[in-house]
Amino acid sequence: MRTDMSGPRKLHVKSYGCQMNVYDSHRMADTLARDGFVETMEPAEADLIILNTCHIREKAAEKVYSELGRIRRLKGRAARDGRRVLVAVAGCVAQAEGEEIIRRAPVVDLVFGPQSYHRLPDLVARAERDGKVVDTEFPVEDKFDHLAPASAAATRARGVTAFVTVQEGCDKFCTFCVVPYTRGAEMSRPVGKIVAEAERLVDAGVREVRLIGQNVNAYHGEGPDGRTWSLARLLYRLAEVPGVAQLRYTTSHPCDMDDELIAAHRDLAPLMPQLHLPVQSGSDRILAAMNRRHARTDYLDVIARLRTARPDIALTSDFIVGFPGETEEDFHVTLAIVDDVGYAGAFSFKYSPRPGTPAAARSDQVEEADKVERLARLQQAIDRNARAFNESLLGRTVEVLFEKEGRRPGQLIGRSPYLQPVQVMAATSFVGEIAAIRIAALGTNSLFGTLELSPHTHDDKPTTACAGS
Ligand code: SF4
Repeated sequence: MRTDMSGPRKLHVKSYGCQMNVYDSHRMADTLARDGFVETMEPAEADLIILNTCHIREKAAEKVYSELGRIRRLKGRAARDGRRVLVAVAGCVAQAEGEEIIRRAPVVDLVFGPQSYHRLPDLVARAERDGKVVDTEFPVEDKFDHLAPASAAATRARGVTAFVTVQEGCDKFCTFCVVPYTRGAEMSRPVGKIVAEAERLVDAGVREVRLIGQNVNAYHGEGPDGRTWSLARLLYRLAEVPGVAQLRYTTSHPCDMDDELIAAHRDLAPLMPQLHLPVQSGSDRILAAMNRRHARTDYLDVIARLRTARPDIALTSDFIVGFPGETEEDFHVTLAIVDDVGYAGAFSFKYSPRPGTPAAARSDQVEEADKVERLARLQQAIDRNARAFNESLLGRTVEVLFEKEGRRPGQLIGRSPYLQPVQVMAATSFVGEIAAIRIAALGTNSLFGTLELSPHTHDDKPTTACAGS
């Protein structure tokens, strides 16, 4: 419980879901820092609690409501101590549910959607003054222009890898997905602002910049020449920023993997050999029903071209099993595509209807027992492929960016170029450095390695695109 009532106001943000939400939570904290809020990990100490929600996973809204039950008790205890706590719900559940949240959970003072984050100081002031506030509009102004950049101290505290949102929203309208409704139409940030953010990040010690967007490879931002730049062009520009040692981007749609972007994987040394490219299903019939806008062979063609450009590229994916109308035959071709591609890993989920999406209204929903059984078989195939990918690295030397200290004394955790966690015994001074590591053993969720060479200095970049292959 907070005891120092005279100190700065405290903010606790709980983030659910994807990396974009983590990025948004950081930006909210940075924006509220200008109003004197400092972050706390302890909800019981906070004067403002924000739940930054995600609508992608099953029962997302239910999870939020049960968390709000816990917060209600906490807010009640604070009130008995004479302290007022504001409770806010942000993110995609807020956008989708709007006023319903306050009706079901009166503990909530403020509900706001992803397009309103830059108005947060004003929304908080209104909620403090007037009581309940709901803001789920899609404003015309660019929220990124109004969000505060992270301070150097906040950036350093968040580590050597940083997310930068370059694109938001989606125009694809897959029939199972709420994103086009909760995040709105595609919007891309201008190149100059992204480059300036990357420069600020590397000045504060960041080595790897991860570009994020719901449909990141549909990026079409305004370049410094006044023309529209593609994601590939943006990546080439960011690779020139001194201090940017590694680049990644996520999440991509197969239809937006154009030749220029594929060539960037061949030509750009800082662009890591790893790509998350969701396929969702291997069946053409289901892909059409999902409105994915590509067939199985189109997807496999993209993979083949990527592998020609960058033979060692590690591919990961998302799968949905039990989409309405999915037959055992459809599922078999989904299983087959896992082996055809040889994924390094994948996320897989049972289909669950999202209210307001076209697929939710279909009458041919798949039985739960079939979904459970198919998911188990799919996950076996994914795990088998992931194991084979990890085993292919045994005895090889790869470059690892060290991110943080591990749980055991003397242990550091880093990431391979293929994004696997790697555990190594090394001095703490290696955090933030990229070093050659020989992969000696495989764990369940990570690789174990030994240090081979001195780390690169901060000025170095990998010299060839295929280092470690
Ligand atoms: S492309 Fe991705 S974000 Fe867009 S509708 Fe489809 S699944 Fe949702």
